[in-house]
Amino acid sequence: MKKLQAGGEVDSWCTKCRLFLNHRIIAMMGSKPVRVECSTCGSHHNFRARPPGVKETGSVRAPSATASTATRAPRQSTATRAAAAELAREQAWEKAIAGRAIADFRPYKLSATFSEGDLVRHSRFGDGVVMRVIDSGKVEILFKGEARTLAQGVAD
Ligand SMILES: [Zn+2]
Repeated sequence: MKKLQAGGEVDSWCTKCRLFLNHRIIAMMGSKPVRVECSTCGSHHNFRARPPGVKETGSVRAPSATASTATRAPRQSTATRAAAAELAREQAWEKAIAGRAIADFRPYKLSATFSEGDLVRHSRFGDGVVMRVIDSGKVEILFKGEARTLAQGVAD
């Protein structure tokens, strides 16, 4: 679990895409994001941890008190594990991207639809490879060092 901070990333419900997508945190209130920017459509809106109408029932989440006390904890084994995971992602990314021609990459567009293994060029995140098609409206793309959930097949 990464520490949330302004400029960092978080999954949020996008009020415009109407999907659960990767967002950049614009503003925090305590340990919680309040304003976010959608990585897919670029819109700014309030952070929503769940789609509208979905209630948090039977939550197994730890109380927020533990999260705030852990914020200032020194980086130890979690950091090491995170670094190892990051290295693995980077290697997977390099393996997918290495030796591929520029023509093999498709520009990322909301209206496009992608398949697993497709190479994608995103205006902000750079080169990526489609790891997983989540459904007809969402894909998981591995960019350098970070996998992101982006929308696809959105009609204008
Ligand atoms: Zn959006």
